[in-house]
Amino acid sequence: MGPWSVGIEDIRDARDTLTGLAHRTPIVTSRAADERAGSNVFFKCENLQRTGAFKFRGAYNALRKAQASTSLAGVVTFSSGNHAQAIALSAQLLGIPAVIVMPQDAPAGKVSATQGYGAEIVRYDRYRENREQLARTLASKRGFVLIPPYDHPGVIAGQGTVAMEMLEEMNDLDLLVVPLGGGGLLAGCAIAAKAANPDCRLVGVEPESGNDGQQSLRAGSIVHIETPRTIADGAQTQHLGEHTFPILQRLVDDIVTVTDDQLIDTMRFCADSMSMVVEPTGCLAAAAVLNGRVEVKDQSVGIVLSGGNIDTARFAQLVGAKTGWSPGRSGQA
Ligand SMILES: *Cc1c(COP(=O)(O)O)cnc(C)c1O
Repeated sequence: MGPWSVGIEDIRDARDTLTGLAHRTPIVTSRAADERAGSNVFFKCENLQRTGAFKFRGAYNALRKAQASTSLAGVVTFSSGNHAQAIALSAQLLGIPAVIVMPQDAPAGKVSATQGYGAEIVRYDRYRENREQLARTLASKRGFVLIPPYDHPGVIAGQGTVAMEMLEEMNDLDLLVVPLGGGGLLAGCAIAAKAANPDCRLVGVEPESGNDGQQSLRAGSIVHIETPRTIADGAQTQHLGEHTFPILQRLVDDIVTVTDDQLIDTMRFCADSMSMVVEPTGCLAAAAVLNGRVEVKDQSVGIVLSGGNIDTARFAQLVGAKTGWSPGRSGQA
């Protein structure tokens, strides 16, 4: 389907690779969400995935693929977020060492979670050093493979299994709404969803302060921006990828944005109405639908809740602040 580095057969292959390793996450509904959106809304709960985010799918698939084609000495990556934990667990499962390049000021919780999966952490100074360069140098010195967080065919194929699972259960979805950072999740989901149902519309959601994807679709080329200031730390990417952009350009119907306040409201909504902890980035797609940023009247709408990694102190700090919409003390579910 298209001249890209990823096709639907790669996603089927990834699904087979991940069977029994990644969770087939539940799809949940909420009457409060349906009422607020004026549609039938289905949440795919990747906040309940292993390592707390969908990133495990892409990381494991990419690593397994690399291991099948060469004898793999180890893996390097340069994320401080969910991809780091995903790579660390995948390497542990495949019995190879992992090196994660993280900034000196990375949150202690993320560092210890990553170390907990047995990965080696290499610190860098985010104001003086280039992490990609550092990771590349480390990889070639040790003979390790470098698996980046989104711009990699094996990663994109793995992320596509999220939508593949969803459309297997409900192939009459009118719309699938997906969080967008560098585009690995959205690109994979777009290929899988359009293959199952060509009439399913695809919409990506970015933080308002980091709308490089929206700008890129409009410009017809990859737009680079400064690191955006937003609580959605998994979507603080500065640009889409060489692999992800052409797929999004061809298959995605629209990219919309939400504010940080809308993300906080949505975190509160997920906790109050669905008893779920979802991290700010994980709320992007839900925030767009619940705040009318996408046209959804009387439709069947899929929403990816992409991750749930947030420590309780930070969660309480964000959700405790009184801003915007709240469902009221008694709840409405
Ligand atoms: C990485 C991440 C995203 C963005 O995924 P991309 O593939 O970079 O677009 C969204 N949500 C969460 C929770 C993430 O960890």
